[in-house]
Amino acid sequence: MTEYLNQLNNAQREAVEATEGPVLVLAGAGTGKTKVLTTRFAHILLSGKAYPNQILAVTFTNKASKEMSERIAHLIQQPIEGLWLGSFHKICAKMLRVNAQLVGLSSNFTILDTDDQLRLIKQIIPNYLIDIKTTPPQLILGIIQSWKDKGFSYGNLAPSEKNTSEKVIIQEIYHAYQIRLQQLNACDFGDLMLHMMNIFNQYPEILQKYQRYFRYILVDEYQDTNTIQYLWLRLLAQRSGEVANICCVGDDDQSIYSWRGAEIANILRFEKDFPEAKIIRLEENYRSTQNILGAASELIDHNSERLGKSLQAANKELQNEKVQIASVWDSDEESRLICDQIIHLQKDGYRYGDMAILMRTGSQTRPFEERMITLGLPYKIIGGLRFYERAEIRDAIAYMRIVAQPNDNLALERIINVPRRGVGSVALQKIHMAARELDIPLLQAVDHLLINNMLKGKIFTELTQLMNLLDQTRKKIETEGHISAIDYLLNACGYIDMWKQDKSIEAAGRLENIKELFQATAEFPSLVEFLEHISLIMDNDDLSGDDKINLMTLHAAKGLEFNIVFLPGWEEGLFPSQRTMDESGNTGLEEERRLAYVGITRAKQRLFISHAANRQIYGQWQSSLPSRFIDEISDKYTKKTSYIKQSQQRSFRKNTFSDSYSSPKFSSPQSQGASYSPSKRTYSAPQSKNIPAGSRVFHQKFGHGTVLSTENNKLEVDFDKSDIKHVIDSFVTLES
Ligand code: ATP
Ligand code: MG
Repeated sequence: MTEYLNQLNNAQREAVEATEGPVLVLAGAGTGKTKVLTTRFAHILLSGKAYPNQILAVTFTNKASKEMSERIAHLIQQPIEGLWLGSFHKICAKMLRVNAQLVGLSSNFTILDTDDQLRLIKQIIPNYLIDIKTTPPQLILGIIQSWKDKGFSYGNLAPSEKNTSEKVIIQEIYHAYQIRLQQLNACDFGDLMLHMMNIFNQYPEILQKYQRYFRYILVDEYQDTNTIQYLWLRLLAQRSGEVANICCVGDDDQSIYSWRGAEIANILRFEKDFPEAKIIRLEENYRSTQNILGAASELIDHNSERLGKSLQAANKELQNEKVQIASVWDSDEESRLICDQIIHLQKDGYRYGDMAILMRTGSQTRPFEERMITLGLPYKIIGGLRFYERAEIRDAIAYMRIVAQPNDNLALERIINVPRRGVGSVALQKIHMAARELDIPLLQAVDHLLINNMLKGKIFTELTQLMNLLDQTRKKIETEGHISAIDYLLNACGYIDMWKQDKSIEAAGRLENIKELFQATAEFPSLVEFLEHISLIMDNDDLSGDDKINLMTLHAAKGLEFNIVFLPGWEEGLFPSQRTMDESGNTGLEEERRLAYVGITRAKQRLFISHAANRQIYGQWQSSLPSRFIDEISDKYTKKTSYIKQSQQRSFRKNTFSDSYSSPKFSSPQSQGASYSPSKRTYSAPQSKNIPAGSRVFHQKFGHGTVLSTENNKLEVDFDKSDIKHVIDSFVTLES
């Protein structure tokens, strides 16, 4: 009956058995915090203290809650339903459906996405005296959201929140926005929690009902709760006259969501709010080998703001391979090397599903996806869409398609009102009718309607402009090549600006994805060839079942574990991210380091870290320095290997790679142990033609030019009829 308790160590068992009263488990990665929570859940059930639906269990990601309910089902040997298990938002939505009328909504309310939210805000602001140049709608929405995250309704803002005259106006907009939401029977994500908080505060009997109902509260990833989540938990846990049965588990070293309002301070607050709390520390790590843990500990030691704790590998007999750190020439070789390693490991008996590639930003998946598609390796993207399925990528490709194939109706429909041009369903119907009547493609129908003055006002101006732009783009392709032509189109039509002005959290990532797409187009000699490549990729049906390589961001990987983990792109500026450091200085750097710590500690048996000396950013090759995080881990736990050929180092002339390697801050990988050996190469280097600087060349698109410099198979060429461009040597012919 209590067999499951025997699988725990003493400290874990204490945390599981202390079901009554508040408990805080503060412990490092892989020490079994989530295991403690799931076992505690089962223990409460099996010892008859509560029914499954009397336990409130908060997890951070959907993946984690799925894993948790599976673990629980396994422990109690039967499937379970009706659990209060999931993210804060999911649980609040479930509660709000039942209580919606108390905040003026009906139970079938809709939950708005960011697009809808922004549209509402834009409808409201013209009524207020606010300068949208200095305070754009996105900023206003961001401020309202941050107020919601802190638990402020428009009526009860703390004085410190309305310290400027603008904030006072935004408070009024906040009010008007909430009225509009109510009229629409809708709420946004922030409202899910805030409404429930307000209901709890106004209707004590409802709060008491839930307080009585939830006899036990369990919270995973506690370090990443924000203020309102904390207040909500505290309200539910504080039953009058009784001690709260709340158990929170967390790790201050894994706090990675401060940019969304999460507060590490909540950990300290817990001890204050629940003075009788039992604090339990777990120090044995059951997940990773000693070398992986050693590397993780050394790295996180560089952070100053820590509560501090130690980690020991529980199983010292585990095969203990050193963490591998690879230096590669460029980002293409990085994806090639990692995919080759994956193939080898799979041949050695590892499952694809036991491998993960974790990256700093979502846009980094692209080269890996392409390589895996080429090799036929099965993969999936956790917590996101495959690169070419993302909305912004589909939009941008639709623009390219309508340029290349003016009769592509689907592409036109996708972009005709993105960004908004006032083309609603009525106008679209008109275009469709004209197309049918005259039996012509939609784009031609637009032309027809414009010429015959059958579209009016804003639609006329905007569509005329779009048609002109498409024409100009086609001409530009002839004179300047497809890369700069498409770049021009997406900027001139306002598409890029649309995302630049969008201050939502996702917007920056979308812009990065578009840059990544430009880079992909640059790898093809013409737009048509690129689009052909895309249609093949999009068609790629994956029939390999569940055993797939996992690709995801480091943020999405929190709480998960894999036998084999690859961490690519450890380069200054990319990781740690320059943007985070610019915006939040040392605090930002420490959060980046925690993110690196999360990444390292996902690995059970083998860990590969890599950095590329050159990465293409916005179609331009740039040299990059290894991440400072690499230097923060000593040779004791790592084996450094350079896959860069000496000739590659020598051939790099501008902004030289060897310079960056001899700088005092970053020591050369070669000098730290392993030396480059050709037999280690399991990938083929790009075949480069020998085209010395000074040569005259001819390029299919750009015409004649003079080579300024070469780096491996990439040439910097000053074209006679254009400016300096970087091209791949196989696309040029040498002139005598
Ligand atoms: P993270 O901080 O990354 O979320 P965690 O502290 O939640 O990690 P778990 O995911 O619960 O750690 O556990 C890590 C691994 O160690 C899991 O595979 C778990 O099954 C295993 N494990 C935990 N405790 C024990 C134990 N006492 N004996 C054997 N294995 C254990
Ligand atoms: Mg966990």
